[in-house]
Amino acid sequence: MAKPIINVEEVSFSYDSKSSAKVIGDISFAANEEEFVSVIGPSGCGKSTLLRIMSGLIKADEGKVLYKGREITEPISEIGFVFQDFALLPWLTNLENVKLGLSRSRLDDSEKEKRAAKLLQQFGLKEFDDAYPNTLSGGMRQRVGIARAVASNPRVILMDEPFSALDELTAETLRKDVERMLRSKKIAVDSVIMVTHNVEEAVELSDKIVVLSDQPSHVKKMREVRMKYPRDRHTKAFQDMVDVIERDLGRSK
Ligand code: ADP
Repeated sequence: MAKPIINVEEVSFSYDSKSSAKVIGDISFAANEEEFVSVIGPSGCGKSTLLRIMSGLIKADEGKVLYKGREITEPISEIGFVFQDFALLPWLTNLENVKLGLSRSRLDDSEKEKRAAKLLQQFGLKEFDDAYPNTLSGGMRQRVGIARAVASNPRVILMDEPFSALDELTAETLRKDVERMLRSKKIAVDSVIMVTHNVEEAVELSDKIVVLSDQPSHVKKMREVRMKYPRDRHTKAFQDMVDVIERDLGRSK
């Protein structure tokens, strides 16, 4: 029996408490141990909002999110977050940005520095400790963003369109690197949950794909993807799965 790490239970949400217009209608799903789960759906259906609820940054109107059975009511160190636009602080060096991921850690400053430097090295940015984010390419900046998210050894990573601000070649290189680091346990987490609108990306990386409807969003389909990693986009099995998800989304070719 798969062990649930994150449970989203009957979550609904609207930004305007006076209006009955819901962004999230009713969403339930689980991310289990060792699972990479993608949440895909039309633009504006509430994917980013859902991820923020899962991180404890905003509160669901109804329903709840559990981390290993415990309700999430505020951000917790067991859950790391990767942002679409990297969200690095431009006045801090790359090393200092990664150290921010350790702000709640009990390590002393020199240990934090060592850990941040090691992470930058693992992410191929050894020479860039003292540089500032705006001197880096988008792909490198997102590496810093991911290093910061995993700095505190979280058990779960939530990723909001992490590759969508990058050109396709850079995105594909980083996807493959992240996938390798997850499988080799260099990034040792229990579950990853990624929001995306990119079907190929979801099929490439995910064990499970949660397909959402338009708002007020609900789960339209839940698909398991059982191909072995690393996945080749050019195979028929891959393209067949892409077609299945496109149909689930109502995007016909
Ligand atoms: P997605 O990630 O699926 O594109 P979002 O979660 O970003 O969707 O947004 C869902 C809906 O909520 C959209 O209609 C958006 O305009 C609205 N929305 C997002 N953030 C806010 C906010 N802070 N205040 C009010 N409405 C918001």
